[in-house]
Amino acid sequence: MLQGFSISNVEDKWSWDGDTSAVFSVAGFKALLEKDRGGNRAHSMKWEGWVPIKVNMVSWRAEFDRLPTRGALTKRRINIVDVSCPLCETGNEEVNHLLVGCGFSYGVWSFICKWCNLDPFFAYDVEDLMQLYRNVHGDTK
Ligand SMILES: [Zn+2]
Repeated sequence: MLQGFSISNVEDKWSWDGDTSAVFSVAGFKALLEKDRGGNRAHSMKWEGWVPIKVNMVSWRAEFDRLPTRGALTKRRINIVDVSCPLCETGNEEVNHLLVGCGFSYGVWSFICKWCNLDPFFAYDVEDLMQLYRNVHGDTK
């Protein structure tokens, strides 16, 4: 089992073999993840510095369908008796339903639009929602 194995006096060290630079970087790790996924997923989310970090995190998790909704937990084989939305009970609690399809979320978005002097919007899915900020220009007053 140990054939071909030799012990040397060289000090142990960590090395990154994710790319040819052998130096770990977040960008290199991100590129490696993209490569493993086939690199065909378009990421529309931009990390915004002026947004609270918890909002950025929820947005990021929503884009990747990583929010622990009842539907997502069921897909991960966690036994959930009722996957319906607890807010409206008209759809399953999935990311798209919670953020754009639920009547309750529509009311929240309407309130936010009114509060920020924005025109009301309609999004079909989370990706639409993530793209929305690029096209929204509020009143400067
Ligand atoms: Zn709902």
